[in-house]
Amino acid sequence: MAKILIIEDELKIQQIVKAYLQKEGFEVLTASDGITGLEAVKTHVPDLIILDLMLPHLSGEELLTQIRQSSDVPIIILSAKSSEDERIFGLNIGADDYLVKPFSPRELVARVFAHLRRIKPKTAETPILSFNGQQLIIDDVKHEVFRNGEAVNLTPTEYKILLCLCRNPGQVFSRSQLVEKVQGYQYSGYDRTIDSHVKNLRQKIEPNPEEPRFILTVFGIGYKFGGERD
Ligand code: CA
Repeated sequence: MAKILIIEDELKIQQIVKAYLQKEGFEVLTASDGITGLEAVKTHVPDLIILDLMLPHLSGEELLTQIRQSSDVPIIILSAKSSEDERIFGLNIGADDYLVKPFSPRELVARVFAHLRRIKPKTAETPILSFNGQQLIIDDVKHEVFRNGEAVNLTPTEYKILLCLCRNPGQVFSRSQLVEKVQGYQYSGYDRTIDSHVKNLRQKIEPNPEEPRFILTVFGIGYKFGGERD
């Protein structure tokens, strides 16, 4: 279910568009001015944005320019600015589509669908990860791990730690971040037990646990994954 953000200060239009989109099963977020809109883009990472141009605090044009610096999310302008120049300007600064008010909500919904169809589906995370010339293979469908072709038995916690690290090679995780990933919440006092899990994990997956290649210690911070994806 796609998430759509409506940035529109006319509440009546906001509500109509919202109702039409919700009827189609979309998750709909709204913002009534430019600043709130920009924050919502950053916080909620919508799949598509419907953008009014004449907005309080930050104009739609400025907002669009800012969004385009970091995102290629589909943006449909919905504006009373109807001249050819205004429409061309909107498209030139990065909008994907332009609808002039008054508009047909059904047409807007059809255009939303059309743009969403064009988005490449997010690449699904590969269920099988292989590292360092198949020295380490993790099958996340079967939850199986192989060292040099031989299955190793990991505890659920060890498995979660390994998966978290190896899905983000090179990224440093603090102990408390790992606790949170593994436990799903922060629990103070548990940080150091991560070390014993890592120790056990190394015994099971490292070719030489004394000189780890996969689970590397980052002194003073935590751990990172050092394997190279095949
Ligand atoms: Ca407006």
